[in-house]
Amino acid sequence: MTTTLDAPPLGPMLDDIVRSHRPQREAGSVPAHIPSLAAVPFNRFGIAVATAAGEVFASGDADVPFSIQSISKVFTLAMALRRDSSGALWSRVLREPSGTAFNSLVQLEVEHGIPRNPFINAGALVVTDHLMEETPDAAAALLSFLSGQSGQAGPFFDVAAAASELSNSSRNLALAHFLKNFGNLRQSAEAVVENYVRQCSIMMTCVELAKAGLFLADDGRGALGTVVSRSEAKRIGSIMLTCGMYDAAGEFAYRVGLPGKSGVGGGILVIVPGHCAICVWSPRLDAKGNSLAGSAALADLSDRTGWSVF
Ligand code: GLN
Repeated sequence: MTTTLDAPPLGPMLDDIVRSHRPQREAGSVPAHIPSLAAVPFNRFGIAVATAAGEVFASGDADVPFSIQSISKVFTLAMALRRDSSGALWSRVLREPSGTAFNSLVQLEVEHGIPRNPFINAGALVVTDHLMEETPDAAAALLSFLSGQSGQAGPFFDVAAAASELSNSSRNLALAHFLKNFGNLRQSAEAVVENYVRQCSIMMTCVELAKAGLFLADDGRGALGTVVSRSEAKRIGSIMLTCGMYDAAGEFAYRVGLPGKSGVGGGILVIVPGHCAICVWSPRLDAKGNSLAGSAALADLSDRTGWSVF
């Protein structure tokens, strides 16, 4: 995929995106169950693009670490699929958009403990449980995977954020206990939630996340060799497109036209298949838990560049 011919070079375009979308006044919300995230200044805004050709373009606060939260779910899914040649994971979690909030309990009970997809919390808890069978500290394995892919020692655990989320984890524990009750969790609910919360607490910059996500845009090829097969990379992209923004997946596909995965830390990772990975970050969220300024900036960037899967 190429940038439209009349578009300006990417570096100056990203600078202009930052000028246009960096929040000027406080708007949007912060996640109530992770108090430490509320302390991040509302006017933070960063964007980075890592291309399959090996270039990195960045602007704004692209080198400031932020809490990746649910963006971790893309990487844990890739790690789980890598070691799931029998397809056992897909008997435990579906691949359908949920149309409900990322932490909703209702659907899980009605659907007998099989989460709709791996990108809502219930699905990520199943993926974590699956990973923990072979790698008890799946969060540590995720951190080392992310460090390897981003080519930096940068990613680190925010121990205080993990502790503060863990002490506000009634809802995730409820999801885990439901899963356990339906026979879809092998480890204890407490152990899986503790590990999942640590995965979410990883701190990374936009530049690091764009580099780490590049394998999804590059037929599964990562910084250290093949991460997943070409068809697995395509499938993960499909799940991002349909499920990556929770109950705003349709609206995001309409506005941006690219597979994305958000986190309540305000980050969004987006894939332009065959071309690049983009990470944008701005901490204040819309009602669905997606970055307000980040979503707007990505819609603007896809319009300016013509990048879209459609
Ligand atoms: N750690 C958060 C939670 O479990 C992640 C949610 C998100 O980023 N959407 O609630």
